[in-house]
Amino acid sequence: MRISDLGEFGLIRNIQRLSFRKTSTTLIGIGDDAAALKVSPSKILLATTDMLLEEVHFDLSFTDFYSLGWKSAAVNLSDIAAMGGVPCHCLTALGIPNHITVERIEDFYRGFTALLKTHRTTLVGGDTCHSRKGMVISVTVLGEVEKKNLLSRAGAKPGDRVFVTGTLGDSAAGLEILKNRVKGQEGRGKGTEAKRLIAKHLRPVPRAAEGRAIARSGCASAMIDISDGLSSDLAHICEQSGVGAEIHSDRIPISPALMKLSGGLTMPVLHYALSGGEDYELLFTVPPGKIKRLQSLHIPVTEIGAVKRGKALMLVDDTGRKNTLQATGYDHFRRMKIT
Ligand code: ADP
Ligand code: MG
Repeated sequence: MRISDLGEFGLIRNIQRLSFRKTSTTLIGIGDDAAALKVSPSKILLATTDMLLEEVHFDLSFTDFYSLGWKSAAVNLSDIAAMGGVPCHCLTALGIPNHITVERIEDFYRGFTALLKTHRTTLVGGDTCHSRKGMVISVTVLGEVEKKNLLSRAGAKPGDRVFVTGTLGDSAAGLEILKNRVKGQEGRGKGTEAKRLIAKHLRPVPRAAEGRAIARSGCASAMIDISDGLSSDLAHICEQSGVGAEIHSDRIPISPALMKLSGGLTMPVLHYALSGGEDYELLFTVPPGKIKRLQSLHIPVTEIGAVKRGKALMLVDDTGRKNTLQATGYDHFRRMKIT
């Protein structure tokens, strides 16, 4: 069977079936933003790994090494934030092809460390190898969380409201602008709005403080970070929680920069928000009785819909018509991302 027939998530389910065994210390194993392991009576260890591959996750014709280091840290810190935790230590493993200079690797670690420092997280190990083709980056972050503050993708209940932090679609639109630049099509790729979208793609800022505040307030029932795209990441929450959801297209937060540049993009704005991915915003669910508690945190969040009984994911358009929401975010083997 070809892996493309199974898809990334089908393959992970097979790996889980073959190799995963829950032990008394495994609170959360495969299937969430990070594993949660009970290593001492008072603390839970969070562990997450993400890879960034040249020509898959980044293109060296428009990514500088400082940004690459920054982003490699950000995607992992975002997973710790989605569990409600605090990052502590990290390990990096690199596969480096011949043409990469020492100066570029140093730039990578300048960017990497700049973000780690703001989260008081330190590099404690890793591995360095030669790669025959393409740069390979693997980052592991270890964090911790108190048991009462641990948030997972499971826990959303019918009636809960669905919220997101920040705005969606900026990163995917920024990527499209960068790709057009490489092709020599500058178009609307100049100006402060384009810069903003590009920055969101190259140097995302993980919602660490927000994730922590949401978790500590106890207002959320489930949480995930948006790495694959709103539609796919909402599907992950629904699958793990055994629920459906209904979201309203006209409530999805779109940044003024994306609105302004929308005319020059190949797809409607909603497409970038639903399927684009790499926004690294937080998607979470809140029971109606705890919404006041969320509001008291004064975090920029938007209510975009509600959790429903059943399994269906529905998108309500601005006329009130409901359509099935396809999980169209990134799948490494089905290649559904905007190219
Ligand atoms: P995220 O997008 O939050 O990084 P992923 O979609 O990459 O999460 O992974 C989903 C879940 O599957 C996570 O729990 C991750 O640890 C697990 N996972 C992914 N690939 C593997 C693998 N090869 N072996 C074991 N677990 C895996
Ligand atoms: Mg995640």
